Amino acid sequence: MKKQKLTARLFVSYFTLVFLALALIVAYASNAFQSFYFDESISNLRVRSLLVEEIINRSPSASPDSLQALCKNLGADIETRITLITLDGIVIADSDENPANMDSHHDRPEVIDALAGDEGVSKRSSYTLEEDHLYLARLIQQSEPKMILRVSFPISDLTATLEDLKTSLILGGVLIILLLAFVNWYLSGQILKPIAIMEAGARRFAKGKLKTKVPESNIQELGSLGHSLNQMAEQIYDRIRVITQQKNEQLAIMSSMTEGVLALNPEGHVLSCNRAAAEMFGLQPNAILDRPLHEVIRNTELIDFATKVLGTRKSRDCRILIYAPEERSLNVVGSKMPAKKGALGGAVLVFTDLTQIQKLEGVRREFVANVSHELKTPITSIQGYVETLLDGALDDAANAYNFLEIISKHATRLGQIVDDLLELSRIEELNEGEAQHLKLTPLKPLVDATINEFRPAAESMSITIATHIEDDVELELNAKLFSHALGNLLDNAIKYSDQGGTVTFRTKVDATHIILEITDTGQGISNEHLSRIFERFYRVDKGRSRDIGGTGLGLSIVKHIARIHNASLKVESKVGEGSTFRFIFPRV
Ligand code: ADP
Repeated sequence: MKKQKLTARLFVSYFTLVFLALALIVAYASNAFQSFYFDESISNLRVRSLLVEEIINRSPSASPDSLQALCKNLGADIETRITLITLDGIVIADSDENPANMDSHHDRPEVIDALAGDEGVSKRSSYTLEEDHLYLARLIQQSEPKMILRVSFPISDLTATLEDLKTSLILGGVLIILLLAFVNWYLSGQILKPIAIMEAGARRFAKGKLKTKVPESNIQELGSLGHSLNQMAEQIYDRIRVITQQKNEQLAIMSSMTEGVLALNPEGHVLSCNRAAAEMFGLQPNAILDRPLHEVIRNTELIDFATKVLGTRKSRDCRILIYAPEERSLNVVGSKMPAKKGALGGAVLVFTDLTQIQKLEGVRREFVANVSHELKTPITSIQGYVETLLDGALDDAANAYNFLEIISKHATRLGQIVDDLLELSRIEELNEGEAQHLKLTPLKPLVDATINEFRPAAESMSITIATHIEDDVELELNAKLFSHALGNLLDNAIKYSDQGGTVTFRTKVDATHIILEITDTGQGISNEHLSRIFERFYRVDKGRSRDIGGTGLGLSIVKHIARIHNASLKVESKVGEGSTFRFIFPRV
């Protein structure tokens, strides 16, 4: 529907009212004037007729000629047409015409009325004179024979005057209407101005600019309307602020949760999805809103589970496996949302990623199995030899000595394993980057001290140890721990090299990193083992490693020590050519 402007509407209403009122006034006034003038003219005619009647009555038996002369003279004197008519309608005398030329007047309305009563009045065009006249006819009772006296005068002037008056009234009315229209337009504008200002304010509110105010008009009704609008805006602003705050808090909580949260409506369409859930299932949170769950996540187990949760009032949980975007094991807890008016509400599904926990459990199980296995071998040997000795081998002195040596070797190995395990668990407990007494330490003296510890072992294998370390290289180190790591690497380099090899310590410094390399010319490690040598108890050649006192824990310890120093540990190796282990420290 087309909307009208209030100003135009008010104007049209006022205008119509004023127009109607003035039109009525003009019509009434012109009517009243007309009636007044005619009544006056009729009274005037009546007075004249009475005078003429009086004069005629003075000569009751006058001849028609004398009556004609009387009418003529009298008519000229009083500027009135005087006509005498018999009761049959024959004109006896007439002041303005020759009666012989005049037709019968029995059909003239005023004559008919005079015959019927006492007096007849009519306003019409004269048949004889062809001009508008006002006629008054009276029956003269006293004359013999009885006659009808008719007096008249032209009313063209009167009609013209009345027309002029009417025109003046209409013109005056139009002028008044125009004036009132102008005043009305101005006043409407004045009244509507505060409303227009309020409307602009309300528009601003609708656009969300709730902090602005609507001016409060001094017109009582408009003033309180403005006040109410301002109060309403304040309340809406407060509510929006509270709602936004709550929403932000909810969003912050939801997005910082490590558990995935997915809310469904009663039809199983997605209502919301937090960051963790989106990551778990590889979804775009905004793209899945309002879509059915089965379109979004193609996992029948989960869809069945969600359907069950939506269909009952109980909370449930289950474990599901998903394969995309990556394989994960999830625990899902589904709860119903509060329902409205007895209808079933939607549901909330909370996903906990168990992949890491399960992986850790696996690692722990594997570790326990490895430790047990590693410990079992020497213990079984020790038990076997002790039993043999007890069974009588003690008496065979030469063998008994051999057996005791073997027992001692296994006991030492047990000790080594336990020591390495304790060392590993101690280092694992230290957190990365924690101020593990990391101190800016010159590297060269530390490396030299470590080398000195292993020099006898190296010399026994005729292995040369070289260093190419700049004097000014300093690193944030825990000297004791880092020296332990260097010792492990150097020990390996000697252990897994043949006679006459070389071990080289070298530093490389660039804009972003300081790199410490330990290179040997030993037997090297093949690619298939390279990625696993940092695992606990992993050994390339178990028998050889065990024979030379290896526990398979050394490189795990080195890796942890590197992590504590915020450094990464890399290895490069070629079978038969040797290996290079690198600590890469970021430059700060
Ligand atoms: P281990 O106590 O057996 O030496 P490590 O964890 O120190 O255990 O080393 C794991 C395995 O990596 C070793 O058994 C060995 O096979 C291989 N390895 C380590 N360092 C070297 C090296 N410098 N040259 C060749 N092989 C090495």
